[in-house]
Amino acid sequence: MKNKEEAVVVFSGGQDSTTCLLWAMKKYKKVYAVSFDYNQRHKLELECAKEICKKFDIEHTIMDMSLLNQLAPNSLTRDDIKVDENAPKDAPPNSFVDGRNLVFLTFAAIFAKQKGITDIITGVSQSDFSGYPDCRDVFIKSLNTTLNLSMDYEFDIITPLMWIDKIATWEMADKLGGFDVIRNMTLTCYNGIKGDGCGNCPSCKLRKKGLDAYLLKKNNAQV
Ligand code: ZN
Repeated sequence: MKNKEEAVVVFSGGQDSTTCLLWAMKKYKKVYAVSFDYNQRHKLELECAKEICKKFDIEHTIMDMSLLNQLAPNSLTRDDIKVDENAPKDAPPNSFVDGRNLVFLTFAAIFAKQKGITDIITGVSQSDFSGYPDCRDVFIKSLNTTLNLSMDYEFDIITPLMWIDKIATWEMADKLGGFDVIRNMTLTCYNGIKGDGCGNCPSCKLRKKGLDAYLLKKNNAQV
């Protein structure tokens, strides 16, 4: 029997996946968070994920994916590769990890099926397209079909953030009552600084731009 009362959230401890976790907590009776240890440079990311799950009493599983880093070293996993300040025009930025979402979602699906769960939630977004091919809707739909065929099962990969920008992501978190959790407990900074981050890396800039615009919108609405 299909279990539609529970869901698996692919959870990194960053802004987007934490917003998805909050979203899922409202929608499902029980939520499982799955994180991946791929020797990311900033172990703090996993610590943030752990802390957030603890706060919300979410069952949290961390899977070892260190092989991914051996096969596809990149600026998020290696100290000697600097994160691109600006993405190149015709190629993904060097913070892109080949195969990451494919691998993560596949393992999340295997995990979900063992529990009879079909719904898998991921915070990928095509709106603030940063050049990551595995964040595109067409990839998610294609993988969903492939996973269904591979396990003869009807998975439903759900992407609450696919078509919304960072302003709307902040708004969603706020409406779900999680503004402070996102602002203070998540890590999105490429330099590994929690909360508002370093302010200079591409990820911090994107996050701050969205936050400033959201706060402005909110303040204007209140006047
Ligand atoms: Zn930063």
